[in-house]
Amino acid sequence: MNLIDGKEVAAALRKEIAAEVETMVAKGERPPYLVAVLVGDDGASQTYVGNKEKMSAEVGFRSQVLRLPAETTQEALLAEVARLNADPEVDGFIVQLPLPRHIDEQRVIEAIDPRKDVDGFHPENVGRMAMGLPAFVSATPDGILSLLRYYDIPTAGKHCVVIGRSNIVGRPIANLLSQKGWDCTVTICHSRTANLPEVVRQGDIVIAALGRAEFVTADMIKPGAVVIDVGITRVPSETTKSGWKLLGDVKFDEVAPRCSYITPVPGGVGPMTIVSLMKNTLKARHGL
Ligand code: NAP
Repeated sequence: MNLIDGKEVAAALRKEIAAEVETMVAKGERPPYLVAVLVGDDGASQTYVGNKEKMSAEVGFRSQVLRLPAETTQEALLAEVARLNADPEVDGFIVQLPLPRHIDEQRVIEAIDPRKDVDGFHPENVGRMAMGLPAFVSATPDGILSLLRYYDIPTAGKHCVVIGRSNIVGRPIANLLSQKGWDCTVTICHSRTANLPEVVRQGDIVIAALGRAEFVTADMIKPGAVVIDVGITRVPSETTKSGWKLLGDVKFDEVAPRCSYITPVPGGVGPMTIVSLMKNTLKARHGL
């Protein structure tokens, strides 16, 4: 069994991005500029945005966090989005989700200029990605592809079973892996899938993105399969200082010995997501 080390891959990609930015700056070009809009004071969102700011600095980007109060109206947020769309200095920006309940998230996502939509959530980017056209691919699926690429894991002709059909993980990764170049035969499972364990057992590559802690057990995994665990569930723990720990969708201890490759949680897919955002921002700086 080989452990897929997301931290190592993320560090390697971060280095590549930093080197590219350094070259740009040495040539007198301005570095990429990423803005994150944070509405309200949700603790997890603050952490995510803080990490994005930290990594932007590490790779040499210019970055800014726009902190808006939780009472910000939809109109005020849309005005901010319009301002960022029009600012020629801003290469890419994200509006951290979730937004407070009184704001229509979809409306905000669709107001972002697709050329600056480095989260890849705008329908134009999702559509372009689905058609195999140049696009901003959202962070989690892009991170999974980077892991497969880094470890040179063969995908052509492999049966990939994706558990989960969300717009941010299951559906895009299923689409991408079915495209030319990756060439997987893909099956998507969801909560209404019949005989799910039997279907998952057919997977040469299994991507678990359902958000149910330790759902995937050893009996569902074909010996030698590649297992990518996207799930993150916070559960109470007596052995940690914080009083909680993170569990993936895969029962790691029993599944790992059956696999050729497996991602741990934490330290697998998670660390890849911010670096994918950085990749998109660099792409936005040059234009798609
Ligand atoms: P989501 O929107 O809740 O979607 C979950 C999907 O799993 C749905 O399609 C659902 O089916 C399916 N599902 C739920 N229970 C199932 C079951 N018992 N059997 C089969 N399918 C089942 O979740 P998400 O946003 O895609 O996220 C999935 C997990 O990944 C979460 O734990 C999330 O925290 C994690 N995540 C991690 C990262 C990262 O950076 N590592 C990034 C994003 C998300 P239906 O469509 O039929 O309801």
